[in-house]
This record gives sequence, C-alpha cells and structure tokens, in this order.
Amino acid sequence: MAKRCSHLKSVLTDQPRTRGCEECLKMGDTWVHLRLCRACGHVGCCDSSKNKHATQHFQATGHPIMSSLERGETWSWCYVDELMLELE
Ligand SMILES: [Zn+2]
Ligand SMILES: [Zn+2]
Ligand SMILES: [Zn+2]
Repeated sequence: MAKRCSHLKSVLTDQPRTRGCEECLKMGDTWVHLRLCRACGHVGCCDSSKNKHATQHFQATGHPIMSSLERGETWSWCYVDELMLELE
C-alpha cells in the first residue's frame, strides 16, 4: 500500500496568486475552503464549495498537486495519485 507520488517536481511555488478563489472572486461567489495549486499558485475552492474550482483547475491544466490554504492545515493532495502528502 506504500504508494508514492511521482509528481513532486511539479511543486514550484507556495505563493498564492490571489487572496481568495480566483474564479469565485471574478463571479462574486463564495467558497468554503481554499486550495493552492503548487505548480502555478492558482487559488481555488475545495470540493465542499459548490464551484469546486481547485478540482476544475486540475482538470483544466493537469497541475497535479495542491495544498490546503487553511490556517493550521499542512497537508497537500496529489489529484493524479489520489494521495495525501506532507510537503516541506
Ligand atoms: Zn502524484
Ligand atoms: Zn471557487
Ligand atoms: Zn495550477
């Protein structure tokens, strides 16, 4: 069961491009939690939010790894491997 993520080289940034979900801000919509794309800094909303922009961003771009932007949460997620990660 020791699955490993082979996408760590796509972790290029930990700097969010926006303070909230990029698409929701444009639409004037709201979100529940925020996720940061580690390839490009895109900020999207989580799957508990009705728009699920973080997942949509993965489907549109193929950027595999996102991190939680919630205070106190340090986990990341690889969409391709469906694997929880702890990044430095
Ligand atoms: Zn992976
Ligand atoms: Zn959103
Ligand atoms: Zn991205």
